[in-house]
This record gives sequence, structure tokens and C-alpha cells, in this order.
Amino acid sequence: MSKTEKTKDSLGFHLLIAAAGSGSRTGLDHPKQYADLCGKAVLRHTLDKFIGFQGLRSIRVIIGAGHMDMYTTAVKDTPLAPPVIGSDTRRGSIYNGLCSFTADERDDVVLIHDAARPFVGTESIENLLNVIYGGATAATLATPVADTIVSTKDHTPIDRNGLRAIQTPQAFRIRDIKAAHENFINDDRFTDDAGLMKACGHTITCVDGTRDNFKITTAEDLMMAEHIFAAHMQTIAGYGYDVHAFDPAPASAIRLGGVDIPHTRKLLGHSDADVILHAITDALLGTIGDGDIGQIFPPSDQTWKNADSRIFVEEALRRVRAKGGTLIHADISLVAEEPKIGPHRNTMQQKIAEILGLPITRIGLKATTSEGLGFVGERKGIEAKAIVSVSLPKDRT
Ligand code: MG
Repeated sequence: MSKTEKTKDSLGFHLLIAAAGSGSRTGLDHPKQYADLCGKAVLRHTLDKFIGFQGLRSIRVIIGAGHMDMYTTAVKDTPLAPPVIGSDTRRGSIYNGLCSFTADERDDVVLIHDAARPFVGTESIENLLNVIYGGATAATLATPVADTIVSTKDHTPIDRNGLRAIQTPQAFRIRDIKAAHENFINDDRFTDDAGLMKACGHTITCVDGTRDNFKITTAEDLMMAEHIFAAHMQTIAGYGYDVHAFDPAPASAIRLGGVDIPHTRKLLGHSDADVILHAITDALLGTIGDGDIGQIFPPSDQTWKNADSRIFVEEALRRVRAKGGTLIHADISLVAEEPKIGPHRNTMQQKIAEILGLPITRIGLKATTSEGLGFVGERKGIEAKAIVSVSLPKDRT
């Protein structure tokens, strides 16, 4: 093990995410931390920066009372503990978060971070941890001020060399920051935790942050965040193909696209033989180079006997999301002589949209016959082809 790795291993920390605010200067009807940023809530982008970070011991997200539904949707498929409910003020909310630590954890390091800063960099977090482990009592990310700053009273310039714009995360020992909060209970002059520590006489160490770690507050910020995010992403297409033969036994319905369509024949298969959902599953796995449906759900495994193929799509989607991916679009072609798809197309499109978590306008579903040619034309089976577009981080693909 190298020296750097050894050092990093010892830099354990807990994370408190301040997500209880109800502010909506973004012009949306919900708080900014739940605003959609390229397919994911801002809060989720922020959490994804930390989940899996070396040394991370726990994450506590502090949410507003009444935000549980938005929170649950935003953190779907993450291994997070239940959130802490905040109070009416930021200070009160952070204090609630600090009170959730046990006495055994009081000497541990905690990073306190705003949910609305989704672009915090790995290097910045590491630098902050190095400073607090190097002996600082309180450390915060901060950036030099680039603009000329003047007083609104008389336009007197203020020397910007002596100024810093304070960001988060901020790093402390749990015992110190909790004591600072307890010194200023019900005093809401302070807009950040380092300010409270300063007022208690502690020295604050500023660690250089980056300007893209800005706090999303307004609609303009959200637009800027979308541009930054897009610059870090690329769109990858995945292709999937599947065939199932008709079962010779008579049936009352055939499962296609998650919908049971009344029909006299069904498809043969180990699962429900939903040829459309199987093609979509393979297309999704194709975007992350993660094998195929047969590898992940082997037909030899009795678990998948008669399984609803929705399970396969959901697992493929989970794997895509675990790589930081967001599904943008799916387009499907079904090749079949029977049954007639036209009367069921809308229901199928809606069902596929629901399974994939996309609006119906992002689902293409076309059906064609094969003009009597080949095995489809001979009514021996049905084929499905699917292509999906997934937005994936450049640095993880
Ligand atoms: Mg199949």
C-alpha cells in the first residue's frame, strides 16, 4: 500500500447534508434541493458525490418536515439511513443532525454540506479532510472573490484580496461543532457553521475550493448547473434484440411490453417471455457494457421461472443508475404477424414509460409484420429490437 493510500484510509468522516430548506427562488413549486437537474434531484447529485467515498462512515440527510415523499423519490436505490427532520432555521436543522450522533462518535470528524451544491469536487473534499486531520479545529472550502466588490452606499471599493466567498463542505470534530451550536441556541445570526465556531473563539482554516461548487439558489443558477452537468456527461446508445417462439398450447393472453393482450397464443419462455422487455433490458445493459439478460438472470435459475420481466428491466436500470447514468429515451420495434398491436399500442407505451420512469413522449413503439417472410412471417415467433439512450458521466465510462 502506498503512503497516500494509507493516509486516506485513516481519514474517516461522517456527512451531514443540509436539505431542510424550503426556499424556492428557482421559481419552482418545490424546494431547490429537489429541483430536477438532468433527470435527477439536485440532492441526489450531491449525495452521489459522496456515496462510496473512501473513509465515509455515515450520511445523515436533514430534511424539512413534510418533504418525506420528495426525499424518498430522490434517494431511491441508495443505501441511506432514514433522514433527520430539520427545524425552521438552518442552524436548528444542523443542530438536530448533530444530536443524532452517539456519544461514541463525538471525537469523529463531520463534514457539513449544503444539498444545493452538487458540484463539490473529490479533490476539494480530500483537501478539507487533510486539513482537519492535520490539526485544524475548523475548516471550510472558500474561493477568492473574482469580481470587484464595492459598497452600495458610496461605491467605495473593498479590497477583494482580503475577501473569501465561503462554501461548504465545512469540517469539524462533532464535539466542537455541537458545543458551538449549544452556545448559540436560538441565535440565528449565523448563516454557516464555521461562523458559529469563529464566534466561539476557534480559528477557521480556509481551504481553496472551486468556483463550480456554487450553491443553486435561483432559476439562473439551475440553468448554469445544467450547462456544467451537461459538459460532464455523454450520451451512450445501447441496443437489444430478442426472439421468442409461440407456445403450441392455446392461451388467453400474450405478455408484450408488460401488458397482457388478449390473444389465443402466448410466447414460450422461462419467464413471462416478454420479448419487448427483454430487448429493453439488453439495450440498457449494453450502455454500461454489463453483459446480457441471460448472464444476470440465467434460465437455469428457478427464481426466474414465470417471473414478471419488469424485474429484469428494473435491475438493468439500477445498474445503469449505479454508474451515474440517466435513461433519456427508449425506442422499440416489434416484428410480429400477430396479435394486432395497433389497438394496444397506447396502453403498452404507457406501461413501458411507467416501468422505465420516463414520460410517454420518450418511448417509441413501432410494430411491423415481416410480410410473410422468415420465422416471424410463418407465425412461429415474435422478435423485438430496442435502442436506448443513456446519459453517463464522462469520467466513469
Ligand atoms: Mg428473451
